[in-house]
Amino acid sequence: MIMPLILFMKRVVKVNRTQYFIQEKGAMVIRANGKCEVCGKQLPAGGGDFSHKLGNKKRNEIKYGWLFLDNRANASLTCPQALGCKCNSKVDIGNKEGVIAEHVKSVYAQMGGLE
Ligand SMILES: [Zn+2]
Repeated sequence: MIMPLILFMKRVVKVNRTQYFIQEKGAMVIRANGKCEVCGKQLPAGGGDFSHKLGNKKRNEIKYGWLFLDNRANASLTCPQALGCKCNSKVDIGNKEGVIAEHVKSVYAQMGGLE
């Protein structure tokens, strides 16, 4: 499980987090096709929120890295929280170990294939 992730990181190591975030959000905008990925409502012009499934917290960044956290497989495009919408917080998978383990496996698989 470790080796393919290292190979993946070598491929994108020259990309900084901001560039990577913009790239992943762009892919999510296309994937979402203008609709919130939680409630299905039309998103306002300018897109929606980049909502992390496994939270964008320091301890998760240390454990999994920002390439993982900001990957499209770890996020949904949702209605903007700034407009009072709760969709952003519904995306969070919480902190149950089993749920996180399954999610991490799924994200790694989508990031570059680990099977
Ligand atoms: Zn929504």
